[in-house]
Amino acid sequence: MSCGEHHDVDCSEILQRVYVFIDNELEDASSDEIRTHLEECAPCLDQYDLERCIKKLVHRSCGDDQAPDALRAKILLRLTEVRVETTPTD
Ligand SMILES: [Zn+2]
Repeated sequence: MSCGEHHDVDCSEILQRVYVFIDNELEDASSDEIRTHLEECAPCLDQYDLERCIKKLVHRSCGDDQAPDALRAKILLRLTEVRVETTPTD
């Protein structure tokens, strides 16, 4: 395990499944695992919020669940820029 002593699950593992989690396509057990992890892991929660945000934006501009990769990448880049600008110094 790379980060955090209190985590049962590796962050990268969670983040890989967060996309599926947002789509509500996970089994209940896996969803619980992710939800629990997000509650105690701020970086993963951040990423989760970001993904949800992208999904909403993409949905609004395309009216479709499946956005072209290029558009998705563009939105992600934009959001990352915004996040970098607004990230508070801890
Ligand atoms: Zn995490």
